[in-house]
Amino acid sequence: MNKILVVAAHPDDELLGCGGTIIEHIKKGDKVGMLIVSEGVTSRDEKRNYPKRKKEIEHLHSISKNIVKKMGVNFIKFFDFPDNRLDKINLIDIVKKIEKIISSFKPNIIYTHHGDDLNIDHELVNRAVLTAARPIPKHPVLKIYSFEVLSSTHWIEPTKRKAFVPNYFRDISHSLKEKIKYLGMYKGEMRKWPHARSLKSIKDLALFRGSSVGLKAAEAFQLIREIKREK
Ligand SMILES: [Zn+2]
Repeated sequence: MNKILVVAAHPDDELLGCGGTIIEHIKKGDKVGMLIVSEGVTSRDEKRNYPKRKKEIEHLHSISKNIVKKMGVNFIKFFDFPDNRLDKINLIDIVKKIEKIISSFKPNIIYTHHGDDLNIDHELVNRAVLTAARPIPKHPVLKIYSFEVLSSTHWIEPTKRKAFVPNYFRDISHSLKEKIKYLGMYKGEMRKWPHARSLKSIKDLALFRGSSVGLKAAEAFQLIREIKREK
């Protein structure tokens, strides 16, 4: 049995990046935990006003909780760091919280954001995860993958940053429908096609990633690190 930890910046990134893959892991009996680092709402204001947005944040979190319950995820935790303002937080504060979860849950696989992502929270979450999962002796984390998030990962300046080039593809032919259904529950986060973060473009990407490797639908990842340790 694998123990999977998904570390996402905002509510909905966990599904956009690896929702189908998580459904497949759960079908195989793997345990899954999720961490959502930022609250996902307060960037709508010029200055962060948590009390003003508290109800919306709670509502968004209740949607996430509802979705992961239906999926069969073992736990989800919200760190509630400022949305789209992680660059104002000391990275070590995020790292420590992730480290704590890693040492209690002991995941062997982590899925997280691509390090050269346009969204500042995505970029810093990647950095925090790699710091929290430093491969010291006997560390439980043996595989780390980064995922792509439509309306962010592909919006970098490609001549200056490292574009997302996947080398690991997970068949989600049997879970794409379910992924789209769950994403539809994040009504406030989804946009109308041809916006990149629309249900249609999410489906289109899955079909494209699939057919590029001979599958009906897939989620694509970059393998950041894999360790094969003999017992
Ligand atoms: Zn995000």
